[in-house]
Amino acid sequence: MTSRLNIPAPAVIKPPKTSAVAPLAEAERARLNARIKHLLKERDAVLVAHYYVDEDLQRLAEDTGGCVADSLEMARFGHAHRARTLVVAGVRFMGETAKILNPEKRVLMPTLQAECSLDLGCPASQFIPFCDAHPERQVVVYSNTSAEVKARADWVVTSSIAVKLIEHLKARGEKILWAPDKHLGNYIQRITGADMLLWNATCVVHDEFKAQALTALKRQHPDAAVIAHPESPAAVLELADVIGSTSQLIQAAKNLPQQKIIVATDRGIFYKMKQAAPQKIFMVAPTAGEGASCESCAHCPWMEMNALENLAQVLETGANEIHVEESTRIKALRATQRMLDFAASIAQVNRGD
Ligand code: SF4
Repeated sequence: MTSRLNIPAPAVIKPPKTSAVAPLAEAERARLNARIKHLLKERDAVLVAHYYVDEDLQRLAEDTGGCVADSLEMARFGHAHRARTLVVAGVRFMGETAKILNPEKRVLMPTLQAECSLDLGCPASQFIPFCDAHPERQVVVYSNTSAEVKARADWVVTSSIAVKLIEHLKARGEKILWAPDKHLGNYIQRITGADMLLWNATCVVHDEFKAQALTALKRQHPDAAVIAHPESPAAVLELADVIGSTSQLIQAAKNLPQQKIIVATDRGIFYKMKQAAPQKIFMVAPTAGEGASCESCAHCPWMEMNALENLAQVLETGANEIHVEESTRIKALRATQRMLDFAASIAQVNRGD
């Protein structure tokens, strides 16, 4: 007989304190940019950056033939690129995903200290016994998890395809064990009606958006649209005109008729939104309000650890290489490859192939 385990109490995650860093002097920025460009060529390396990192890094990735993307596209791009070294500007699970897919490549990160509260909130030591206690459920984990957690999963998924995947599994009659983001899990459950057992971690950035303050901001700007990432609390999502993954939100910012857009996701994304719709005005959804701790203020303290200086340094020294133990990698690859294959099948259907 299988015993049921309760979901462990949510871990208390203390994000690092970020102190205001003095902006680089123009000459220093130019010197670092030139040095990094040279080193990327010399080391046969490509820069893969997330939408939430500093815009200096996003611009550099674009200028050097790398990519700026969400975590699904980062994984796909790194896998398809011929460079022998991938430099991942983001947080640790993104570097690990690159290594899971590319064991033959060297994967470097500007910093190994860049964590994610979702990853930290779902330790393998608690998650694996929980899965073992629910063998009747398909284990679906968000990409924001460690290699060990992915290795225990049946599926890895990103927010861009999560609803479609759960609909697919529900149609097959599967019950789901979902981890780690409870807001995203709740959102998907509401849309699909699937039987989902939810882990209880949250993102320190999105969990801080406040519905009451957002309602007040909407009143001040009745002509603005609200767009939100589904890692935000349900009360915030109820106020949104569009809910979607980072890539879907950039697309919405471009396509919505409104000229003003209130954005409930990390403000690092404004670089790409302004590129997509230069004439529009973007506002950060409020994180202040009753009970707000505002540790992050709409910007991920771990993403912020990526900078031109530490990027140049790892390219110089080859430090901060990501390693994933081989038996864990092989197991994690199975669930990650399923995600890529599923995403490719959706793209094929959308193209009408
Ligand atoms: S923004 Fe949230 S989900 Fe993204 S890396 Fe930071 S803590 Fe994790």
